[in-house]
Amino acid sequence: MKKIKIVIAGPRGRMGKEAVYLVQNTDQFELTAVLDRKNNGMKLSDLDGFQNIDVPIYTDIELCFQETQADVLIDLTTPETGMYHAKTALEYGVRPVVGTTGFSKSDLDELEAICNEKSLGCIIAPNFAIGAVLMMKFSRMAAKYFGDVEIIEMHHDQKLDAPSGTAVKTAEMISQVREAKKQGHPKEKETIQGARGADYDGMRIHSVRLPGLIAHQQVIFGSEGQTITIRHDSYHRGSFMSGVKIAVETAMKLDTFVYGLENILE
Ligand code: NAP
Repeated sequence: MKKIKIVIAGPRGRMGKEAVYLVQNTDQFELTAVLDRKNNGMKLSDLDGFQNIDVPIYTDIELCFQETQADVLIDLTTPETGMYHAKTALEYGVRPVVGTTGFSKSDLDELEAICNEKSLGCIIAPNFAIGAVLMMKFSRMAAKYFGDVEIIEMHHDQKLDAPSGTAVKTAEMISQVREAKKQGHPKEKETIQGARGADYDGMRIHSVRLPGLIAHQQVIFGSEGQTITIRHDSYHRGSFMSGVKIAVETAMKLDTFVYGLENILE
């Protein structure tokens, strides 16, 4: 079987490093080059942690695509760089698989228009953890029968945004099937501000930030005499890599733009 030739942008980052190991350890994948804003012209094997991974490092993405044959670009950098990389990849007929978060609605619309024009696959996934995607899907299923729900998301204390994008996405998915209502006692009053968490369509989202955590979320549904809890834990950034693998394989078969891993999982 023909191998899928992959370029990874951001290989020294926490996610990029995991992606390099994923590609190296997957038979049908081949790492052809990496894009790094430093170390131009060196080999990846010259850098710490990448022993024997003898692929060229490029800083110039156009030169990279001119000199190497790539099918897919995996981008794990920053929103501005990720957007430039994804657009340039599409210009060169390379399918972007982007895990970088923080794209605006207009960025996504622009990428979608280019994909349509070029009939090329592109996947943008703010959460590659399959378990997290299933947690959201199961929560939407449960919300049909349980209208009272609270979301508790827990992350490392260096996270800048609260609530997490996954918690907001979960609330959005739940609200597609749940009749909007204000939960709790109608006369409920907070004696300390924020005690009941953020309000999304009357359901509550609570954000916990502690060192030692990576990314965790539980969704608790309650009704007469019963509760159901759906929980997902990412203990390691390797948890995102099975989603990256599926996204790369799927991008090769797509000729359209996809936003969100949930849209390519059966
Ligand atoms: P990180 O450790 O800070 O790594 C980011 C990498 O991007 C670094 O190697 C950085 O290089 C590089 N970079 C930054 N600006 C660049 C530029 N202009 N040109 C080329 N490379 C550049 O971050 P991370 O934790 O790996 O996260 C990377 C992205 O993935 C973030 O957007 C994060 O939110 C997202 N993420 C997504 C998922 C998911 O499931 N989709 C999960 C976790 C994180 P320097 O070292 O030179 O700065």
